[in-house]
Amino acid sequence: MAPIPATMKAIQVSKTGGIDVLDYKDVPVPTPKEGQVLVKNEFAGVNFIDTYFRSGLYKLNLPVILGSEAAGQVVSHHKDVTAFPPGTRVVYMDSQAYAQYTAVPASKLIAIPAGLTTEQAAAAFLQGLTAWTFIREAGNVQPGQWALVHAAAGGVGQLLVQMLKSLGAKVIGTASTQEKCDLAKKLGAEWTVNSKDDVVARVNEITGGHGVDAIFDGVGKATFDADLQMIALKGHLVSFGNASGPVPDFSILRLSDKNVTLLRPKVHGYVSERKDLEKYSAELFDKIISGQVKIAIHDIYPLKEVGRAHSDLESRKTKGKLLLSVE
Ligand code: NDP
Repeated sequence: MAPIPATMKAIQVSKTGGIDVLDYKDVPVPTPKEGQVLVKNEFAGVNFIDTYFRSGLYKLNLPVILGSEAAGQVVSHHKDVTAFPPGTRVVYMDSQAYAQYTAVPASKLIAIPAGLTTEQAAAAFLQGLTAWTFIREAGNVQPGQWALVHAAAGGVGQLLVQMLKSLGAKVIGTASTQEKCDLAKKLGAEWTVNSKDDVVARVNEITGGHGVDAIFDGVGKATFDADLQMIALKGHLVSFGNASGPVPDFSILRLSDKNVTLLRPKVHGYVSERKDLEKYSAELFDKIISGQVKIAIHDIYPLKEVGRAHSDLESRKTKGKLLLSVE
């Protein structure tokens, strides 16, 4: 194994704003503290949440290295850690992943099984755990129920569509272009609606007036009101992101019209206990290895071109996962 250098390349943010605040710079390689392992990252995932931290929608203490997940190889440990020997291929969700090396608590690492490449693991992890835990724990989707996925050709969206389909749900996908709708259909959305059309009216027609039993909405501001109109009696509305901006304040009384269960989950809340992280990761990897769920990588960008990746993601140009190559 190559010696660990003193400095590394990383993407640091010292003030919040547009893509110009993403600094590609040399910083010290972190030293693993108690309970931590040093991972040499190969691929870091680009997630919409990274843009919220960059823009200041979500707060962080600055300066900070951005990034929320990566996959690579263990290169060293704090002396108190015995698991994950050097050379183990691992994937994790943790901060400061837009870097060549990240010190990660061993409790957050998952070994990548032999049937998955490091690239696939990086592409699948955060978005896959999000989709799968939200279906299992938030949406409570049952076979035969109506489920609607907004931004169905996006990173989380493509995974939700495939997983819901495999559960036996009747899946409706929304997306902003015909090409994205066609992709969602190919992945298992039996019905698709262009989000520029009258989505509420189309969904009413498709479901024969029943409405949707579970809605998965990472778009936020632009779609929340329609969600309350499309949701079925006793439906589960899972609002989990702000791609179009945060959901504005609203009266809780609006939920009582149809006894709606509204959830605003974070993936970390469903995998904060080690046993849950292991269980859901194993289930996710099984789905990929068995071919039930396909991982689509939109593009792999060099670390220093992270600004282009953020810009592509925010301008709705992408379909599937964006990765940074961190060699
Ligand atoms: P996506 O690949 O889904 O990209 C976002 C998509 O949102 C776009 O492609 C676009 O699809 C749609 N969109 C609608 N309106 C806008 C807008 N005004 N600007 C930009 N995009 C818009 O991203 P991710 O898969 O990374 O994330 C999807 C959502 O899930 C995000 O909101 C993210 O924050 C959230 N998330 C939440 C987690 C949690 O724990 N709560 C964990 C992971 C993700 P189209 O063109 O078809 O409309």
